[in-house]
Amino acid sequence: MNQPILTIVVPCYNEEEVLTYTFSQLSGLLKEMINDKIVSNRSKILFVDDGSKDHTWPIIYKESLKNDLVRGLKLSRNVGHQNALLAGLYTAKSASDCLISIDADLQDDIEVIKDFVEKFSQGYEVVYGVRNDRSSDSFFKRSTAQGFYKLMKTMGVDLVYNHADFRLLSKRAVEELERFDEVNMFLRGIVPLIGFKSTSVYYERKERTAGETKYPLKKMLSFAFDGITSFSVTPIRFVMFVGLTSFFVSMFFALYFLSLKFFGNTELGWTSLITSIWLIGGLQLIAIGLVGEYIGKIYKESKRRPKYIVDIDSFNLPIREHRNP
Ligand code: UDP
Ligand code: MG
Repeated sequence: MNQPILTIVVPCYNEEEVLTYTFSQLSGLLKEMINDKIVSNRSKILFVDDGSKDHTWPIIYKESLKNDLVRGLKLSRNVGHQNALLAGLYTAKSASDCLISIDADLQDDIEVIKDFVEKFSQGYEVVYGVRNDRSSDSFFKRSTAQGFYKLMKTMGVDLVYNHADFRLLSKRAVEELERFDEVNMFLRGIVPLIGFKSTSVYYERKERTAGETKYPLKKMLSFAFDGITSFSVTPIRFVMFVGLTSFFVSMFFALYFLSLKFFGNTELGWTSLITSIWLIGGLQLIAIGLVGEYIGKIYKESKRRPKYIVDIDSFNLPIREHRNP
């Protein structure tokens, strides 16, 4: 087999502080891999600007003019990490044999990219990068992430443990991925559903070199919540179960109070009443909220809006032919 054409897809949102370093690191590595004849000399790095508000796009644009390994894709607005990643994969898939996604902050060990490609050459179509150590993450992030994986597992969603969005996909896998036409693409849950021969490669995750995380607590929670509700109906079942339980409990109380009345002792405070009213009311609101969350998902899916809109694509059209940014 000829050397595979590799495209490295890098979603970027307000990453001006890290980009110069990322360019030099990734293109250094890719140059080396091309020279060592590991990958084809048509391999590229595609930086996807996810509607950044800082100078991310002009920086990518300038780099793509002087560095032939670098290409840029500018999205019309911010669509989030997962969709930006998909935009890059779908844009580059027809001109690539395999595609690797990596975060712009290079917290993931780029040397592992060579192992990814080696596994691809051995016939694997999906290669997961798995952190064997999370000591660079804060204690809080580590334990919440751990809790999340456990929770997902109990709800019947199989995630690759400690795998983020650092992975290799073959062209074929990306083509199949495109058929998962959900608006809410939680890639960590969907990629395992593609199937094909897959494997994992282990590495250590480093600290962010510069800039700050684009996943503050609020986003992390909504990411986790989306992950759960897009993949599992267990929460709704749980609500149903709680509802049934409280129904039987209240039946029991009704009988109990009734019997007390018959045996002449009706001196009961309203404490128990008021507590149960609030309790049941609360449970009902939670249940309605949860069901509403799923209905909201159905509503979103039914609209079939595009996941992203491309503004400038220098991967398929040389950047000089675009209007200036
Ligand atoms: N990112 C993006 N769009 C967003 C948020 C983040 O493209 O709306 C990119 C970001 O530039 C980075 C990657 O997604 O390359 C992961 O983000 P980050 O490093 O902030 O997340 P963390 O590593 O802290 O989980
Ligand atoms: Mg990061």
